[in-house]
Amino acid sequence: MSGGAVQHAPQRLLLVEFAATDRFHRALLFPFVLGYARAAGRAARWLRFGVPAAARAGGRDEGVPLSGADEARLRGTARVFDPDLVLFHQTPSAGVRRAAAAGGRATLAVLADGGTVGTRPGRFRRLDLARTPLDAVLGLRDPSVRGTGLFENVEPDYGFEAANEAAETMDPLPFVFLGEECTYDRPFRANRFLADLSLAGCLRRGGCAFCGRPEGRRWTTSPPVLLRRQLAAIDRTLPGTGGRGLRVRLLGEAALRHVGAVAREALRFRRRPLRLLLDARVDRLLAAAEPLRAALRALDGSGVRLELSLLGAESFGTAALERLNKGLRPEQTLRAIRLLFELEREFPAGFGFREHGGLSLLTMTPWTTPAELALDLAVVEALGLESLVGKLFTGRLRLFPGLPLVEAARRDGLLVRRYADPRLDTARRNLYETELPWRFARPEMESLGRILVRLEADAATASDPLSRRVAELAGALGRGVTPRSVAAALAMTDAAMRAAASGRKPGPAALLRAAASGGASRDEAAAPRHETWVRHAEWRGAAAEPGRLPLSVLLDHKPAIKVEPLTATECDRFRRDPELPHVRARRRGGGAGGEAWEVFLGRRARDVVAAAELAERIERARPGPELRDAVTRMGLALGYPQCCARAFARERPPLVDNVFWLHVARRVAIPGRVPAELNPLAPWLEYVPCSAACRASLARARRMIRAWGAEGRRQLERCRHPVLLFREIQGQAVELEPLDEPGERFRYRAGVAGGAGPLVEAVRRGDELVLDHELTLVLRRGRPLAALSARAFLWWHERPLQAEFWRAMVEVLRARGPEPRAAAAPEAAAATPFARDTAGLLAALRRRRLRCAGFVLESWGASGPDGVRVALVAPGDRVELDLFPRRPGAPAFLEAGAFRLTYPTTRPLDSPARLAAARAFAAALAAAAPDHDDDDHDHDHDDDRDHDHVGRPR
Ligand code: SF4
Repeated sequence: MSGGAVQHAPQRLLLVEFAATDRFHRALLFPFVLGYARAAGRAARWLRFGVPAAARAGGRDEGVPLSGADEARLRGTARVFDPDLVLFHQTPSAGVRRAAAAGGRATLAVLADGGTVGTRPGRFRRLDLARTPLDAVLGLRDPSVRGTGLFENVEPDYGFEAANEAAETMDPLPFVFLGEECTYDRPFRANRFLADLSLAGCLRRGGCAFCGRPEGRRWTTSPPVLLRRQLAAIDRTLPGTGGRGLRVRLLGEAALRHVGAVAREALRFRRRPLRLLLDARVDRLLAAAEPLRAALRALDGSGVRLELSLLGAESFGTAALERLNKGLRPEQTLRAIRLLFELEREFPAGFGFREHGGLSLLTMTPWTTPAELALDLAVVEALGLESLVGKLFTGRLRLFPGLPLVEAARRDGLLVRRYADPRLDTARRNLYETELPWRFARPEMESLGRILVRLEADAATASDPLSRRVAELAGALGRGVTPRSVAAALAMTDAAMRAAASGRKPGPAALLRAAASGGASRDEAAAPRHETWVRHAEWRGAAAEPGRLPLSVLLDHKPAIKVEPLTATECDRFRRDPELPHVRARRRGGGAGGEAWEVFLGRRARDVVAAAELAERIERARPGPELRDAVTRMGLALGYPQCCARAFARERPPLVDNVFWLHVARRVAIPGRVPAELNPLAPWLEYVPCSAACRASLARARRMIRAWGAEGRRQLERCRHPVLLFREIQGQAVELEPLDEPGERFRYRAGVAGGAGPLVEAVRRGDELVLDHELTLVLRRGRPLAALSARAFLWWHERPLQAEFWRAMVEVLRARGPEPRAAAAPEAAAATPFARDTAGLLAALRRRRLRCAGFVLESWGASGPDGVRVALVAPGDRVELDLFPRRPGAPAFLEAGAFRLTYPTTRPLDSPARLAAARAFAAALAAAAPDHDDDDHDHDHDDDRDHDHVGRPR
C-alpha cells in the first residue's frame, strides 16, 4: 500500500483509535470514514482505546502500544469481526499489529491525509487519502468524496465503541471541520533563513516552517452549513457523555471568521452545557476581536461557552519567529494576550482560554540562543503567564519528514542519529509520530535543554542521575512552570551565557548550582517582593554624599519622608537617630507583612502623624474610591504634585506593585523627547510622575535643583545619560555614560548604580549595549555577556527605545485581572473530614456575605491531600489562601483558631490590600471556629454528619 491502492475491495472495515486521555489527540478522519463506509453498505466498526499521552515513553517500539488486556480485546474483536482492512490513525506497535491481524486476512495501514502522519520511510504501511481517495480504497468510484469532498459531502458517524475503561470515561471530544484549517501561507522562498533550501520533498510551499498540515485545499460549503450538519451527526451518533455536557472542537480558521454564525448554530443545537473549542493564529484572533465580542454577548447566559484551546505564540523574539516563518511580530502576540484577558473579564461565564493549553511556545529549536530563551522566560515572568504556558520547559521543536526546518537542520548539520538523552524525545512522551532527533547549534544550550525538560511536572518519576539532581532542585522550587522555577531557569540561562562569554561550555552541575543559588534577587531573598532593604547607615551616609540629595533639601520640599522597607533592627536605628525629626515607625500590614517596617519623618510632627495614619488607612481600605482617596492623600503628604498622586491612585495593581512598570508606561507613552529632569534615577525624583513630561513635576524638580546649587546642576547633566531600569527590584538602575550616540547599539561606561545583583554586575562589566527589536544584550569586547530583555528598560530622555514592545507589555499588565476560579467546586473540598468541615464553615461565612478588607469570599476547593484553598476576590484583584489543620511546628503565614494559613507562591500577598484581606479573613475564621481540636477531629468526623449549618470544625 504505502500510498498505493488496496488490492481488493474491503467489505469489513475496522478502525482502531489511540485516543490520548490527557491530550487532544483524536482520529479526526474516522467519523467520515465510518460514515462513508456504512453508507456504502460496508460492515464497519470503530474501536477507541484511551491511552495516556506518554504511552510510547520508555519503549523501543516506534508504534503506540496497548496494555495486554487491551491487546486481548483487540485480538478478540479482530477474530470475531474478521475485518479485511484495519486502519489506524497513528502507527501501532508490533504487538498491536499482531492483535489486529488475528482475524487472519486483514490488510493493516495507518491512515493519513497528506500530513506528517506515518511519513518516516519504511516504518509501517501508510494509506494516504491525498493519493488514494476513500472511494478507491473501498473499490468504488465516487469523485464526490475526494479531497475536501470527504468532509463536505459525507455524513459523518461519530459512533465509536469504547474499547477500554479509559475510553469509556474520557471526554469524547468530537471534532468538526469548518473549512481550511489555516490559510496562512507566507512562502518559504520569501524567508531568508529558508530561501536557499531544496524544498522539493516538503509537504507545502508556505506557512509555518514547523507545521505538518497538508497543502491547502479549496472548500466550497459554507462553514455554518458544515457546522450544522456535523453537530446534527454528533447529536445522532455520538455515544452519551454521561451528563458531563459536551465539548466540541472546531477545526478551521473559518470558526473565528464566522464566529457570529457559529454562535447562532450553537444556540440552535439542543445539548447543554456546550463548550466549543477554537484554535487561532494570533493575527486571526486580533482581526476577529469585535465579532468575537458580539458572539459572546449573543451567547451570554445560554449555556454555551467559547474556549480558545491553543494560541500559537511560539516565541516572543522576532528572530526566532522569523526562522519559524511564523509571520508574526511579538507585539501582536502580546496584544492577543491582552485581548484574552479582557474577554475573560468581560465574559467570565462565556469565554475561557486557560483550560485547554493556553499559549504554546517553541522555546527550544536547533537554532535557539540562550538570549532568545532568556527573552521567552523573562516575558513569562514579567507578565505572570506561568499558568498559561504549561509546556514552557518542554517546548522543543519536533521535526518530521516533509518540514522545511528538517532541510534547514540538515543544511546546518544539526540532525543527529538519535538522542543521547532519551528525555529530549518529547514526541515519544506526547503521543506524536516518531520525530527526527536534532542538536543545538549553540553548545551552551545542550545542558540547559536537558535540565529544562526535567523540570516538567511529569518528569518526577524519571530516575536517571540528572533527573534525580533536578528532582532535588524541583523539590525546592516546585515542579512544573511556577514563578520560582521560571526564575531558576533564567538563572541557569544567565549562567550559560556567562560561561559561553568566557569560552566555556557549562555542564549540568554548574547550571544547577546557579539555579540553586537563585537569580538576581537572592541576596535580598528575605526582602518584600520587588524591594530591597534600606539600611540606616547607608541612607544617612548617602544623604551626605555628593550626588545624593541633602536631607535638608528633602525636608524643605516634603511634608513627610517615608523610608521603607526596614527590618526591625534598622527601624530602631532610625528611631534612635537624634538628627532625624519626628521619626514615627510602623510595622507594615500590622505584622501580616512579616518583619517589614517603615518610618516617616518630617519637619512638622502633625504632617508625619498624618502620613503614618494614611498608611494605616491604605492597608485597611477596600479597593475602590476609598482606597484611591487615601493613596492620593498619601502622595500629597509626601510632597508629590497632585496630578501625579491622583494618577498613581488610579493605576491598576500590577503596575503600582512595582513602579518599574509605571516608569516604562510613562516613557513609552511619549514618542519624542521628555525633560531630562524627570530621569527616574534623578536624585530629586522619588515618585513616578503622571507623565514623563509632567509640568508640575518639572517645576518641582527645578526648584530642588536650584536649592541644591552647583551640585544640582552637575546632577542634571548626568540625567541626560540613558539609564537602565531593572524590573525585578524597583529602584535598581544603572546610569550608562555613552561613548557613542545612544540608540539601538552604543558603547558605554557604567556610571551611578542603584542596587546590586548579577544583571547589574554584568552591566558594570560590559562595554556595549545592543537593543535588537525586543532583545537587550550587554556585550563585552563584542561578545554577549548577559541578556536583559524584558528585565531591564533603557530610559532615555531623547526618545523611547523598544517602545512598541514595552507598550504592549504594559497593556497586558493593565488588562490583567484576577484569574477566574482557580479553586475547585465546593463539593471537591469534601474529600477529608477537615476539608468537609471547613467547607461547611466557609459556606456559612459566604452566606453571611463575609467581607475581608474589601474582598469577598468567592470559592474554595481542595489544596493537596489535606488542605483547602480559598479564593477572595475584589474588583481587579484576587487573594488565594491555603487552610490546613493547625499543628505545632508546622509552617504558617498566619494562624487562626484551629487553622494555619499559607498562600501559594504563585499568588504572593505582595500588596497592602492583599495582606489586609488575608488578615481580615484569618480573623473571621478564628471568630467563627475558635475551638477546633485537630487531634479529636479524625475520630469524631463520622458522627458529624448532622453538624449545625455553620459547620464548625471540631
Ligand atoms: S498558523 Fe498553525 S496551522 Fe497555520 S501554518 Fe502556522 S502552525 Fe500551521
